[in-house]
Amino acid sequence: MRIEEDTKLDFKDVLIRPKRSTLSSRKDVDITREFTFKHSGRKFKGVPIIAANMDGVGTFDMAKAFLEDGNGLTVALHKHYALEDIQSFYKDNNADAVWYSIGMVKADEEKLKEFIAAGKAPEKICIDVANGYSEHFVEYVSRMRDLLPEATIMAGNVVTGEMVEQLILSGVDIVKVGIGPGSVCTTRKMTGVGYPQLSAIIECADAAHGMGGLICADGGCTVPGDIAKAFGGGADFVMLGGMLSGHDQAEQQITEEGGEKFVQFYGMSSDTAMKKHKGGVAEYRASEGKTVKVPYRGDVSNSLQDILGGIRSSCTYVGARRLKELSKCTTFIRVTQQINNIFGAS
Ligand code: 5GP
Repeated sequence: MRIEEDTKLDFKDVLIRPKRSTLSSRKDVDITREFTFKHSGRKFKGVPIIAANMDGVGTFDMAKAFLEDGNGLTVALHKHYALEDIQSFYKDNNADAVWYSIGMVKADEEKLKEFIAAGKAPEKICIDVANGYSEHFVEYVSRMRDLLPEATIMAGNVVTGEMVEQLILSGVDIVKVGIGPGSVCTTRKMTGVGYPQLSAIIECADAAHGMGGLICADGGCTVPGDIAKAFGGGADFVMLGGMLSGHDQAEQQITEEGGEKFVQFYGMSSDTAMKKHKGGVAEYRASEGKTVKVPYRGDVSNSLQDILGGIRSSCTYVGARRLKELSKCTTFIRVTQQINNIFGAS
């Protein structure tokens, strides 16, 4: 047994220090990023926020709303759409807006191969497992790189630099970072495993950038300020689940209780998801996600305005004219839990 004594930080443990700035308005801030991916060589331009591949968030309707919004946000589609529906979405819409998601189960791989065989290889794929530390996962990722040499591959999740390097060497363009921070994730409670998300981002970004790779901070953002902290810590992309849940685009039923409207939101390894997609939780595993009711929030465009406005404002406070400069302009100050409680920071 070994104990690491270094302090590791979560979003709630820091604030971004304001700095003198020549920017007079949020309007002057450009929150899009441009990337050329290391392995695929493809280019990206847009706001680097990705809707998580979860039921109620990673939906076709969300992708259509993002296309309409025009800021270049993208959606990681959840894994449970039928192939015919995916094919017709790709045929009728700009596929640039979506990441095709797969896990490591055989059915996912077969569905992908069928998709490719029908003449359409996804340009962006998201290979998503709860624990990205297994050798089996690294081999799987390499196999996917061989299968799709021209696709941009995002894969994870991991939380430490050495695994980020391993995945980039195995053909990953964007390493997804986060174990345990998700709003409906119970991994930390069920297993005791995890890593404070801001430190994971800072350490993983450093490792990835040293190799020409990128990271996507996945999980734990509850307010726009958390997203700004993730970008400030070095994240290239940020993935959102809970913050994009509860909208018209959820493709879920809206319920009413005591005059309030709600939408169900659940982790993809919760009992609810297992029952819905797999007929129950397998005997050898426990569910590592929970089910919550989130207030119904109408069209996602309302929330997007808050999110994008918040990030623009963060950039203004520290003098970052472009999102790209936010990390360079960020000084985090450590704050105590007590201050967070008083001022309501997340
Ligand atoms: P949020 O933005 O809601 O805080 O986090 C979203 C992320 O939580 C997802 O992108 C995914 O990585 C993670 N997640 C989703 N469902 C589950 C689950 O059931 N269990 C765990 N451990 N993580 C989940």
